[in-house]
Amino acid sequence: MSKDTELTDEQWRERLSPEQYEILRKAGTEAPFTGPYWDAKEDGVYRCAGCGEELFDAGTKFDSGTGWPSFWEPASDDRVELRSDNSMFMKRTEVVCAKCGGHLGHVFDDGPQPTGQRFCINGGALELEEK
Ligand code: FE
Repeated sequence: MSKDTELTDEQWRERLSPEQYEILRKAGTEAPFTGPYWDAKEDGVYRCAGCGEELFDAGTKFDSGTGWPSFWEPASDDRVELRSDNSMFMKRTEVVCAKCGGHLGHVFDDGPQPTGQRFCINGGALELEEK
């Protein structure tokens, strides 16, 4: 699969649904309790809706009460890239797919053990492959 630099904006538009495009390519945020997977309990792996990379295991998903799919860790540390995000007058850490550069969501340090992290991810950026 291509790096984001190898696909044009037009190609991303064709590949993704409007909701996926807005999140992954424009760093959009779906409204809470409206996107896919926020209350999903199925076993499986969550892949990037942009490039198919395996990003999160359903075994690390927890109910954060936020209305977005939440995980305490990525499938492995090199699957996601963390970037500081000072938009919206907040200091946050953006989570990006390391493979295609697509925006996924943000990570906060108020998650459950064993990591204490809360990866707050847009369901529209994910595709669940059930096991
Ligand atoms: Fe990706």
